[in-house]
Amino acid sequence: MLAMNYRGPYRVRPVHKEEPEIEHPNDAIVRVTRSCICGSDLHLYHGLVPDTRVGSTFGHEFTGIVEAVGPSVRNLKVGDSVLVPFNIFCGSCYFCQKELYSNCHNVNPEATAVGGIYGYSHTTGGYDGGQAEFVRVPMADVGPTVIPSDMDLDDAVLCTDAYPTGYQAAEMGGIQEGDTVVVFGAGPVGLFAAKSAWLLGAGRVIVVDQLEYRLEFAKRFAQCETVDFKSVGDMAIHLKAMTDGLGPDICIDCVGCEAAGNFAQSLTGIKLKLQAGAATVLHWCINSVRKGGTVSIVGVYGPTFNFVPIGNAINKGLTMRMNQASVKRHLPRLIEHIQAGRIKPSEIITHRFRLEDIADAYHIFSSKLDNCIKPVLLP
Ligand code: NAD
Ligand code: ZN
Repeated sequence: MLAMNYRGPYRVRPVHKEEPEIEHPNDAIVRVTRSCICGSDLHLYHGLVPDTRVGSTFGHEFTGIVEAVGPSVRNLKVGDSVLVPFNIFCGSCYFCQKELYSNCHNVNPEATAVGGIYGYSHTTGGYDGGQAEFVRVPMADVGPTVIPSDMDLDDAVLCTDAYPTGYQAAEMGGIQEGDTVVVFGAGPVGLFAAKSAWLLGAGRVIVVDQLEYRLEFAKRFAQCETVDFKSVGDMAIHLKAMTDGLGPDICIDCVGCEAAGNFAQSLTGIKLKLQAGAATVLHWCINSVRKGGTVSIVGVYGPTFNFVPIGNAINKGLTMRMNQASVKRHLPRLIEHIQAGRIKPSEIITHRFRLEDIADAYHIFSSKLDNCIKPVLLP
Protein backbone atom coordinates (compact mmCIF):
# COMPACT_ATOMS: atom_id res chain seq x y z
CA MET A 1 0.00 0.00 0.00
CA LEU A 2 0.98 3.64 -0.32
CA ALA A 3 1.88 5.45 2.91
CA MET A 4 3.48 8.62 4.16
CA ASN A 5 7.03 8.03 5.33
CA TYR A 6 9.15 10.21 7.65
CA ARG A 7 12.79 10.53 6.55
CA GLY A 8 14.01 13.19 9.01
CA PRO A 9 13.20 16.83 9.83
CA TYR A 10 11.44 18.54 6.89
CA ARG A 11 11.65 15.36 4.80
CA VAL A 12 8.64 13.18 4.11
CA ARG A 13 7.77 11.09 1.07
CA PRO A 14 5.28 8.50 -0.17
CA VAL A 15 6.47 4.87 -0.07
CA HIS A 16 5.03 1.45 -0.76
CA LYS A 17 4.92 -0.68 2.36
CA GLU A 18 3.27 -3.84 3.65
CA GLU A 19 -0.41 -3.57 4.42
CA PRO A 20 -1.10 -3.84 8.15
CA GLU A 21 -2.61 -7.05 9.50
CA ILE A 22 -4.68 -8.02 12.51
CA GLU A 23 -2.10 -8.54 15.27
CA HIS A 24 -4.44 -8.87 18.24
CA PRO A 25 -8.03 -10.14 18.61
CA ASN A 26 -9.16 -6.57 19.43
CA ASP A 27 -7.73 -5.04 16.23
CA ALA A 28 -9.51 -3.80 13.14
CA ILE A 29 -8.02 -2.89 9.77
CA VAL A 30 -9.44 0.30 8.29
CA ARG A 31 -9.19 1.47 4.66
CA VAL A 32 -8.63 5.20 4.95
CA THR A 33 -11.12 7.52 3.22
CA ARG A 34 -9.91 10.90 4.58
CA SER A 35 -6.79 11.79 6.52
CA CYS A 36 -5.76 15.24 7.68
CA ILE A 37 -2.42 16.81 8.49
CA CYS A 38 -2.50 18.45 11.92
CA GLY A 39 -0.47 21.21 13.54
CA SER A 40 0.76 18.41 15.83
CA ASP A 41 2.25 16.64 12.81
CA LEU A 42 4.26 19.77 12.16
CA HIS A 43 6.07 19.35 15.49
CA LEU A 44 7.13 15.89 14.29
CA TYR A 45 7.99 17.24 10.83
CA HIS A 46 10.10 20.00 12.42
CA GLY A 47 11.97 17.45 14.54
CA LEU A 48 10.66 18.79 17.87
CA VAL A 49 9.23 15.55 19.28
CA PRO A 50 11.69 13.10 20.86
CA ASP A 51 11.93 9.56 19.47
CA THR A 52 10.33 10.26 16.11
CA ARG A 53 11.81 7.42 14.10
CA VAL A 54 12.78 7.49 10.44
CA GLY A 55 10.49 5.17 8.49
CA SER A 56 7.38 5.83 10.54
CA THR A 57 4.00 6.84 9.12
CA PHE A 58 2.22 9.82 10.70
CA GLY A 59 -1.49 10.56 10.74
CA HIS A 60 -3.85 10.64 13.71
CA GLU A 61 -6.90 12.28 12.09
CA PHE A 62 -8.66 9.85 9.78
CA THR A 63 -11.91 8.26 8.69
CA GLY A 64 -12.22 4.95 6.89
CA ILE A 65 -14.12 1.81 6.03
CA VAL A 66 -13.65 -1.25 8.23
CA GLU A 67 -11.95 -3.92 6.10
CA ALA A 68 -11.38 -6.62 8.72
CA VAL A 69 -11.99 -7.16 12.42
CA GLY A 70 -10.27 -9.41 14.95
CA PRO A 71 -12.24 -12.27 16.56
CA SER A 72 -13.09 -10.39 19.77
CA VAL A 73 -14.37 -7.16 18.17
CA ARG A 74 -18.11 -6.79 18.84
CA ASN A 75 -19.04 -3.16 18.11
CA LEU A 76 -17.76 -2.88 14.54
CA LYS A 77 -18.38 -4.87 11.39
CA VAL A 78 -16.75 -5.05 7.99
CA GLY A 79 -18.07 -2.23 5.78
CA ASP A 80 -18.78 0.24 8.61
CA SER A 81 -17.77 3.83 7.83
CA VAL A 82 -15.98 5.12 10.92
CA LEU A 83 -14.25 8.17 12.33
CA VAL A 84 -11.32 7.22 14.53
CA PRO A 85 -10.38 9.47 17.49
CA PHE A 86 -6.68 10.27 17.58
CA ASN A 87 -6.34 8.66 21.03
CA ILE A 88 -5.72 4.93 21.31
CA PHE A 89 -7.25 3.81 24.60
CA CYS A 90 -8.49 0.68 26.33
CA GLY A 91 -11.74 2.06 27.75
CA SER A 92 -11.41 0.22 31.05
CA CYS A 93 -8.33 1.32 33.01
CA TYR A 94 -8.39 3.74 35.97
CA PHE A 95 -8.01 6.75 33.67
CA CYS A 96 -10.43 5.63 30.95
CA GLN A 97 -13.05 5.07 33.66
CA LYS A 98 -12.69 8.78 34.41
CA GLU A 99 -13.00 9.54 30.67
CA LEU A 100 -9.35 10.64 30.61
CA TYR A 101 -8.87 8.61 27.43
CA SER A 102 -5.80 10.56 26.40
CA ASN A 103 -4.11 9.31 29.57
CA CYS A 104 -4.97 5.62 29.11
CA HIS A 105 -2.68 3.40 31.16
CA ASN A 106 -2.72 0.29 29.00
CA VAL A 107 -1.76 1.31 25.48
CA ASN A 108 1.54 3.02 26.15
CA PRO A 109 2.83 1.44 29.35
CA GLU A 110 6.35 2.80 29.00
CA ALA A 111 5.21 6.41 29.16
CA THR A 112 4.48 8.17 32.41
CA ALA A 113 2.15 10.82 31.01
CA VAL A 114 0.39 10.40 27.72
CA GLY A 115 -1.50 7.37 26.37
CA GLY A 116 -1.43 6.11 22.80
CA ILE A 117 -1.72 8.25 19.67
CA TYR A 118 -1.71 7.07 16.04
CA GLY A 119 1.41 8.04 14.10
CA TYR A 120 2.92 10.19 16.82
CA SER A 121 6.42 8.92 17.62
CA HIS A 122 7.50 6.23 20.06
CA THR A 123 6.77 8.56 22.98
CA THR A 124 3.07 7.82 22.35
CA GLY A 125 3.42 4.11 21.70
CA GLY A 126 5.04 3.91 18.26
CA TYR A 127 1.79 3.12 16.42
CA ASP A 128 1.65 3.70 12.66
CA GLY A 129 -0.78 6.40 11.56
CA GLY A 130 -3.48 6.95 9.01
CA GLN A 131 -1.68 8.96 6.32
CA ALA A 132 -1.78 5.73 4.37
CA GLU A 133 -4.20 3.58 2.43
CA PHE A 134 -4.74 1.22 5.38
CA VAL A 135 -4.19 1.44 9.11
CA ARG A 136 -4.33 -0.98 12.02
CA VAL A 137 -6.77 0.18 14.70
CA PRO A 138 -6.07 -1.40 18.12
CA MET A 139 -8.82 -1.59 20.79
CA ALA A 140 -11.30 -1.34 17.92
CA ASP A 141 -14.32 -1.81 20.15
CA VAL A 142 -13.73 1.41 22.06
CA GLY A 143 -12.16 4.05 19.78
CA PRO A 144 -13.90 4.16 16.40
CA THR A 145 -17.36 5.71 16.06
CA VAL A 146 -19.68 4.78 13.20
CA ILE A 147 -20.33 7.95 11.18
CA PRO A 148 -24.00 8.97 11.23
CA SER A 149 -25.53 8.47 7.77
CA ASP A 150 -26.41 12.17 7.43
CA MET A 151 -22.88 13.37 8.19
CA ASP A 152 -20.41 14.24 5.48
CA LEU A 153 -16.93 12.75 5.59
CA ASP A 154 -15.20 16.13 5.65
CA ASP A 155 -17.09 17.05 8.83
CA ALA A 156 -16.46 13.58 10.26
CA VAL A 157 -12.69 13.71 9.82
CA LEU A 158 -12.54 16.97 11.75
CA CYS A 159 -14.28 15.20 14.65
CA THR A 160 -11.21 13.01 15.13
CA ASP A 161 -9.09 15.82 16.61
CA ALA A 162 -9.22 19.51 15.68
CA TYR A 163 -12.87 20.17 16.56
CA PRO A 164 -12.96 18.16 19.83
CA THR A 165 -9.58 19.57 20.84
CA GLY A 166 -10.77 23.14 20.29
CA TYR A 167 -13.93 22.30 22.19
CA GLN A 168 -12.03 20.78 25.12
CA ALA A 169 -9.74 23.82 25.18
CA ALA A 170 -12.77 26.08 25.62
CA GLU A 171 -14.38 23.71 28.11
CA MET A 172 -11.26 23.60 30.29
CA GLY A 173 -11.52 27.40 30.42
CA GLY A 174 -14.61 26.95 32.61
CA ILE A 175 -16.39 29.73 30.69
CA GLN A 176 -19.15 31.53 32.61
CA GLU A 177 -21.95 33.35 30.77
CA GLY A 178 -20.55 36.58 29.32
CA ASP A 179 -16.84 35.85 29.89
CA THR A 180 -14.13 37.32 27.67
CA VAL A 181 -12.04 34.57 26.07
CA VAL A 182 -8.75 35.11 24.26
CA VAL A 183 -7.57 32.32 21.96
CA PHE A 184 -3.92 32.28 20.88
CA GLY A 185 -3.49 30.64 17.46
CA ALA A 186 -5.86 30.89 14.50
CA GLY A 187 -5.06 27.43 13.17
CA PRO A 188 -7.71 24.71 13.04
CA VAL A 189 -7.59 24.10 16.81
CA GLY A 190 -7.79 27.80 17.69
CA LEU A 191 -10.66 28.34 15.23
CA PHE A 192 -12.65 25.55 16.85
CA ALA A 193 -11.78 26.82 20.34
CA ALA A 194 -13.11 30.26 19.39
CA LYS A 195 -16.29 28.81 17.91
CA SER A 196 -16.74 26.55 20.96
CA ALA A 197 -16.27 29.47 23.35
CA TRP A 198 -19.49 30.98 21.95
CA LEU A 199 -21.26 27.63 22.23
CA LEU A 200 -20.25 27.52 25.91
CA GLY A 201 -21.55 31.00 26.72
CA ALA A 202 -18.71 33.47 26.13
CA GLY A 203 -19.69 37.12 25.83
CA ARG A 204 -16.62 38.14 23.87
CA VAL A 205 -14.04 36.17 21.86
CA ILE A 206 -10.68 37.51 20.68
CA VAL A 207 -8.29 35.50 18.48
CA VAL A 208 -4.55 36.28 18.30
CA ASP A 209 -2.23 35.28 15.45
CA GLN A 210 0.05 37.02 12.99
CA LEU A 211 -1.19 35.51 9.74
CA GLU A 212 -3.52 38.00 8.11
CA TYR A 213 -5.41 35.37 6.07
CA ARG A 214 -6.11 33.24 9.14
CA LEU A 215 -7.26 36.23 11.19
CA GLU A 216 -9.60 37.24 8.35
CA PHE A 217 -10.96 33.71 8.21
CA ALA A 218 -11.39 33.65 12.02
CA LYS A 219 -13.56 36.78 11.85
CA ARG A 220 -15.91 35.07 9.40
CA PHE A 221 -15.85 31.56 10.85
CA ALA A 222 -15.99 32.45 14.55
CA GLN A 223 -17.43 35.98 14.50
CA CYS A 224 -14.56 37.06 16.78
CA GLU A 225 -12.40 40.12 17.22
CA THR A 226 -8.77 39.64 16.22
CA VAL A 227 -5.32 40.84 17.26
CA ASP A 228 -2.27 40.68 15.00
CA PHE A 229 0.56 40.10 17.47
CA LYS A 230 3.11 41.63 15.11
CA SER A 231 1.44 44.98 15.65
CA VAL A 232 1.36 44.71 19.44
CA GLY A 233 4.11 45.86 21.79
CA ASP A 234 3.40 44.22 25.15
CA MET A 235 0.66 41.59 24.83
CA ALA A 236 -0.51 41.82 28.46
CA ILE A 237 -0.82 45.62 28.32
CA HIS A 238 -2.62 45.41 24.98
CA LEU A 239 -5.16 42.83 26.14
CA LYS A 240 -5.75 44.67 29.42
CA ALA A 241 -6.45 47.84 27.49
CA MET A 242 -9.04 45.90 25.48
CA THR A 243 -10.73 44.57 28.65
CA ASP A 244 -11.27 47.53 31.03
CA GLY A 245 -7.81 47.15 32.51
CA LEU A 246 -8.54 43.81 34.19
CA GLY A 247 -7.46 41.34 31.53
CA PRO A 248 -9.48 38.57 29.87
CA ASP A 249 -11.25 35.97 32.04
CA ILE A 250 -9.75 33.09 30.09
CA CYS A 251 -6.68 32.68 27.88
CA ILE A 252 -6.31 29.60 25.70
CA ASP A 253 -3.04 28.35 24.18
CA CYS A 254 -3.71 26.75 20.78
CA VAL A 255 -0.14 27.21 19.54
CA GLY A 256 2.31 25.09 21.56
CA CYS A 257 6.02 24.70 21.02
CA GLU A 258 6.06 26.27 17.56
CA ALA A 259 5.95 29.65 19.27
CA ALA A 260 8.88 28.85 21.51
CA GLY A 261 11.53 29.42 18.89
CA ASN A 262 14.77 30.35 20.46
CA PHE A 263 13.15 32.35 23.22
CA ALA A 264 14.70 30.20 25.96
CA GLN A 265 18.08 30.62 24.40
CA SER A 266 17.67 34.38 24.31
CA LEU A 267 16.68 34.37 27.99
CA THR A 268 19.44 32.14 29.25
CA GLY A 269 22.18 32.70 26.71
CA ILE A 270 22.72 28.95 26.82
CA LYS A 271 22.65 27.01 23.59
CA LEU A 272 20.03 24.46 24.48
CA LYS A 273 20.10 20.98 23.01
CA LEU A 274 16.32 20.96 23.02
CA GLN A 275 15.07 23.25 20.32
CA ALA A 276 11.98 24.53 22.06
CA GLY A 277 12.56 25.91 25.52
CA ALA A 278 10.35 28.69 26.73
CA ALA A 279 6.98 29.35 25.21
CA THR A 280 5.96 32.83 24.24
CA VAL A 281 2.28 31.99 24.35
CA LEU A 282 2.42 30.56 27.88
CA HIS A 283 3.95 33.85 29.02
CA TRP A 284 1.31 35.82 27.18
CA CYS A 285 -1.52 33.73 28.67
CA ILE A 286 -0.30 33.93 32.26
CA ASN A 287 0.66 37.58 32.12
CA SER A 288 -2.50 38.74 30.31
CA VAL A 289 -5.31 36.83 31.99
CA ARG A 290 -7.05 38.64 34.84
CA LYS A 291 -6.30 37.77 38.48
CA GLY A 292 -8.21 34.62 39.44
CA GLY A 293 -8.68 33.80 35.75
CA THR A 294 -8.07 30.55 33.89
CA VAL A 295 -5.39 29.49 31.44
CA SER A 296 -6.27 26.50 29.26
CA ILE A 297 -3.50 24.80 27.30
CA VAL A 298 -3.92 22.38 24.41
CA GLY A 299 -0.90 23.55 22.38
CA VAL A 300 1.55 20.65 22.28
CA TYR A 301 4.99 20.91 23.85
CA GLY A 302 7.25 18.14 22.56
CA PRO A 303 10.30 18.64 24.77
CA THR A 304 9.55 17.97 28.41
CA PHE A 305 10.48 21.32 29.94
CA ASN A 306 9.74 24.96 29.39
CA PHE A 307 10.31 28.16 31.32
CA VAL A 308 6.87 29.04 32.62
CA PRO A 309 6.34 32.18 34.78
CA ILE A 310 4.86 30.07 37.52
CA GLY A 311 5.42 32.66 40.28
CA ASN A 312 3.22 35.12 38.43
CA ALA A 313 0.58 32.42 37.97
CA ILE A 314 0.58 31.67 41.71
CA ASN A 315 0.46 35.31 42.77
CA LYS A 316 -2.46 35.96 40.42
CA GLY A 317 -4.36 32.96 41.76
CA LEU A 318 -4.81 31.39 38.35
CA THR A 319 -6.42 28.12 37.46
CA MET A 320 -4.39 26.30 34.82
CA ARG A 321 -5.83 23.34 32.98
CA MET A 322 -4.27 21.31 30.19
CA ASN A 323 -4.32 17.94 28.48
CA GLN A 324 -4.31 16.13 25.21
CA ALA A 325 -7.97 16.03 24.22
CA SER A 326 -10.08 12.98 25.08
CA VAL A 327 -11.94 12.98 21.79
CA LYS A 328 -14.50 10.27 22.45
CA ARG A 329 -15.86 12.05 25.53
CA HIS A 330 -17.02 15.02 23.45
CA LEU A 331 -18.37 13.33 20.32
CA PRO A 332 -22.10 13.07 21.18
CA ARG A 333 -22.28 16.80 21.99
CA LEU A 334 -20.17 17.83 19.01
CA ILE A 335 -22.15 15.76 16.52
CA GLU A 336 -25.33 17.30 17.91
CA HIS A 337 -23.96 20.81 17.26
CA ILE A 338 -23.23 19.80 13.64
CA GLN A 339 -26.66 18.25 13.14
CA ALA A 340 -28.33 21.33 14.63
CA GLY A 341 -26.44 23.50 12.14
CA ARG A 342 -24.57 25.47 14.81
CA ILE A 343 -21.19 24.58 13.29
CA LYS A 344 -19.92 23.28 9.95
CA PRO A 345 -16.37 22.00 10.73
CA SER A 346 -15.45 21.32 7.09
CA GLU A 347 -15.57 25.07 6.31
CA ILE A 348 -11.93 25.20 7.49
CA ILE A 349 -10.69 22.72 4.86
CA THR A 350 -8.72 24.67 2.28
CA HIS A 351 -6.62 22.01 0.51
CA ARG A 352 -6.94 18.45 -0.78
CA PHE A 353 -3.97 16.32 -1.77
CA ARG A 354 -3.35 12.81 -3.03
CA LEU A 355 -1.11 10.67 -0.85
CA GLU A 356 1.43 10.74 -3.67
CA ASP A 357 1.80 14.48 -3.08
CA ILE A 358 2.49 14.19 0.65
CA ALA A 359 5.74 16.18 0.46
CA ASP A 360 3.93 19.18 -1.11
CA ALA A 361 1.12 18.87 1.41
CA TYR A 362 3.51 19.10 4.38
CA HIS A 363 5.52 21.89 2.82
CA ILE A 364 2.47 24.04 2.04
CA PHE A 365 0.84 23.51 5.45
CA SER A 366 4.09 23.99 7.37
CA SER A 367 5.06 27.17 5.51
CA LYS A 368 1.48 28.51 5.61
CA LEU A 369 1.56 28.99 1.83
CA ASP A 370 -1.42 29.53 -0.44
CA ASN A 371 -3.66 30.60 2.50
CA CYS A 372 -3.61 27.04 3.82
CA ILE A 373 -5.66 26.33 6.95
CA LYS A 374 -6.44 22.60 6.89
CA PRO A 375 -5.16 20.09 4.33
CA VAL A 376 -6.91 16.77 3.77
CA LEU A 377 -5.34 13.74 2.10
CA LEU A 378 -7.45 11.52 -0.10
CA PRO A 379 -5.70 8.15 -0.28
P1 NAD B 1 -1.37 25.31 13.15
O1 NAD B 1 0.10 25.20 13.00
O2 NAD B 1 -2.20 25.22 11.91
O3 NAD B 1 -1.75 26.68 13.87
C1 NAD B 1 -0.95 27.30 14.82
C2 NAD B 1 -1.18 28.79 14.68
O4 NAD B 1 -0.49 29.47 15.74
C3 NAD B 1 -0.65 29.37 13.37
O5 NAD B 1 -1.70 30.06 12.70
C4 NAD B 1 0.47 30.31 13.82
O6 NAD B 1 0.61 31.44 12.97
C5 NAD B 1 0.00 30.68 15.21
N1 NAD B 1 1.02 31.22 16.12
C6 NAD B 1 2.36 30.97 16.14
N2 NAD B 1 2.92 31.66 17.13
C7 NAD B 1 1.95 32.36 17.74
C8 NAD B 1 1.92 33.25 18.83
N3 NAD B 1 3.03 33.57 19.50
N4 NAD B 1 0.71 33.78 19.19
C9 NAD B 1 -0.43 33.49 18.54
N5 NAD B 1 -0.45 32.63 17.48
C10 NAD B 1 0.72 32.07 17.11
O7 NAD B 1 -1.77 24.18 14.21
P2 NAD B 1 -3.19 23.57 14.74
O8 NAD B 1 -3.49 22.35 13.96
O9 NAD B 1 -4.21 24.63 14.87
O10 NAD B 1 -2.71 23.10 16.20
C11 NAD B 1 -2.42 24.09 17.17
C12 NAD B 1 -1.74 23.47 18.38
O11 NAD B 1 -2.62 22.54 19.01
C13 NAD B 1 -0.47 22.69 18.04
O12 NAD B 1 0.50 22.87 19.06
C14 NAD B 1 -0.95 21.26 18.07
O13 NAD B 1 0.10 20.37 18.33
C15 NAD B 1 -1.91 21.32 19.22
N6 NAD B 1 -2.87 20.23 19.30
C16 NAD B 1 -3.13 19.74 20.52
C17 NAD B 1 -4.04 18.71 20.67
C18 NAD B 1 -4.35 18.20 22.05
O14 NAD B 1 -5.05 17.21 22.16
N7 NAD B 1 -3.92 18.85 23.11
C19 NAD B 1 -4.68 18.17 19.57
C20 NAD B 1 -4.42 18.74 18.30
C21 NAD B 1 -3.50 19.77 18.18
ZN1 ZN C 1 -4.17 16.38 15.29
